[in-house]
Amino acid sequence: MSEALKTITPAKDWAPDSWQRKTAGQQATYPDPKALDGAVYHLSQMPPLVTSWEILTLKEQIAEAQAGKRFFLQGGDCAEVFGECEPSIIANRLKVLLQMSLVLLHGLEMPVVRIGRFAGQYAKPRSEDTETRDGLTLPSYRGDIVNSPEFTPEARTPDPSRLLTAFSCSAMTMNFVRALVDGGFADLHHPEYWDLGWVEHSPLADEFHRIADSIGQSVRFMETITGQQPGSLRRVDFFTSHEALHLHYEQAMARRVPRQWGYFNLSTHFPWIGMRTAELDGAHVELFRGLRNPLGIKIGAGMSSDWLKGLLRTLNPDNEAGRIVLIHRMGANKVGDHLPALIEAVKATGSPVLWVCDPMHGNTEKTASGYKTRRFSNIQAEVEQAFDVHAACGSRLGGVHLELTGENVTECIGGARELAEQDLQRCYKTTVDPRLNYEQAIEMAMLVVRKRRS
Ligand code: PEP
Ligand code: MN
Repeated sequence: MSEALKTITPAKDWAPDSWQRKTAGQQATYPDPKALDGAVYHLSQMPPLVTSWEILTLKEQIAEAQAGKRFFLQGGDCAEVFGECEPSIIANRLKVLLQMSLVLLHGLEMPVVRIGRFAGQYAKPRSEDTETRDGLTLPSYRGDIVNSPEFTPEARTPDPSRLLTAFSCSAMTMNFVRALVDGGFADLHHPEYWDLGWVEHSPLADEFHRIADSIGQSVRFMETITGQQPGSLRRVDFFTSHEALHLHYEQAMARRVPRQWGYFNLSTHFPWIGMRTAELDGAHVELFRGLRNPLGIKIGAGMSSDWLKGLLRTLNPDNEAGRIVLIHRMGANKVGDHLPALIEAVKATGSPVLWVCDPMHGNTEKTASGYKTRRFSNIQAEVEQAFDVHAACGSRLGGVHLELTGENVTECIGGARELAEQDLQRCYKTTVDPRLNYEQAIEMAMLVVRKRRS
């Protein structure tokens, strides 16, 4: 482990529940606080979902990405739901992420940090606390960890037992992903295992197969010249992430581990703070301050330079490498105006960060027929501008954060297959934000490569 990771001092006046002294945004109001306490206690006794070794390995990989030696890929559903904790959805999402990482690895000629938005992405921030339909007002749906989306009083009442269901679904997802990744599914000799139906008839199929063949050849070549046994490249690293929004859940998973100082959030490798809960003096920043995990911070156009500097001071006082990933999500029409000042502000702090572009959350719109969608052209435009803005400021865009699925949904408009507004109703499944389907996701990886090489 690098020296930088060893010399950090633990956060002062911090405990897993010290966030409770602060104002917490985006939390559910439970009708029975005792039942909530019971669920939190129960959770705190459960075995962890990840280990501190894995978390520290990821931190080292992020430090390498900060140094320009790796590209960072984070993707998955906007919101996982309990009803989709099933094998084909989990495997297809993993396949798409593996395929994208292959395209990036090949095109950028560098290793990729692979992070799924899954095994815990069950809590959602909402713009309103309540929703009114036909004169009836009920609590908003806050993700399956809190309540259920149907518009009935029973479904919308926050239910603490859902914390345990979220934990179980996360554990089952994690278990299946680990088994797939360790069991040969992620074998670089066999990218054909990751094929989804689209490959035969997609306009991008030939390009993907060329890349896959070329990787297969390189792997065999490397094994030959280094004398490694065939099969030593059978396994790739894969990490998990979610928005650490539900503070009671995250508190229960903040643990000490033997022979390590401080606390780790053992519910995920890479928790992030959402745009709506990043107040400097808020409860989320307080909880994150005491965790040793690498941390993501979402940054929108409303983030000021002083606010961002304050976050870096609080969350990374020792300027530790690998600790902070700044995920900007401005929108294609704002990134050019708002990003340069933030890049300069961060440079002035000397804090090492990894800059990542989330081109999804600033580009959401509603169609006339009421669908929440995103245009592929805007997503592409934001990513491409982000590369240019960083280069112009002497900085580097080190990765992308995408909402995507391995299913053939029609939620975002455009892409190689030119999905139109009328196509949205054909297969629109998301309960929250529109996701790239598998074909649009692979295309995005190819466009990132094209842009980086241009
Ligand atoms: C999200 O990532 O789903 C999300 C809500 O993002 P943001 O906090 O950037 O709006
Ligand atoms: Mn989202």
